[in-house]
Amino acid sequence: MDDIQDYWLYSVQSAVMDFLMLKGKKLSLGLIMHLVGNDSKVVDKIKTGLDKGLFELDVHGWNHNNYTKLNLSDQKQSLYHASLKMEKMFGVKPIVFIPPFDSFNNDTISAMKKIGMRIISSGLLEENRFDQNRSIFSANHVGINNSKIPSQKLLDSNKKNVINNMTTVVYHLPGTIFFKDFQNGKWVKTPLVDILGNASRNIAKYGYAIVVLHPQDFANTYNGTTTPTNSANKTEISDLSKLIESLKSRNVKIMPFDKVISFSS
Ligand SMILES: [Zn+2]
Repeated sequence: MDDIQDYWLYSVQSAVMDFLMLKGKKLSLGLIMHLVGNDSKVVDKIKTGLDKGLFELDVHGWNHNNYTKLNLSDQKQSLYHASLKMEKMFGVKPIVFIPPFDSFNNDTISAMKKIGMRIISSGLLEENRFDQNRSIFSANHVGINNSKIPSQKLLDSNKKNVINNMTTVVYHLPGTIFFKDFQNGKWVKTPLVDILGNASRNIAKYGYAIVVLHPQDFANTYNGTTTPTNSANKTEISDLSKLIESLKSRNVKIMPFDKVISFSS
């Protein structure tokens, strides 16, 4: 879920987080780091999920701006500030960058490598524009085959390799479908059957699928407008519940980004 920030749709952000915590499900959060830290309600909610081992904290920019408009040095500075602040505030060093507006370029990848970030999650269109999808990570059917989970022992013996790779590899794991999509100036709900179809196709192709959520997907709106209010919509939360149950019935597992890359084939 992207666009996590202070003083914005708090009741909605927390309704989604609380719901997933109640279900014991993992959730990757994209934090706009410059805008997180002063609103203790947001910070405490994130810490709660982190303490339960359910939330993965990812960087969704220092500011919510287009990184391709920045030069290499500014991109690096921006990611460095975001990473440092996250580490100070939450005690975790982020490895995932979800670029605002999906925009990234070669400098973004270089900047990430320099500060040890290992996963970029943009979108399929941007990946196609970047190098015709050649960099998209393929996992070994993580969602449906359990046999590839590496043992802790194997992980330990590979740790040195992993650390070496940290400086050289950035994995590309693009979002494959949106819970709601922004079309012609408004948010349009993706039918459940389409999300499930997308998940099946992408799991067959890449071994995983990524469903992108935004807090505003789950907000009530002011009458007759698309402007979100700070109150969660029960139908949307219930539809998220249906999605999770449908994935479960298809034996699809829900996991954060850092877990997916442990299934490299
Ligand atoms: Zn965003």
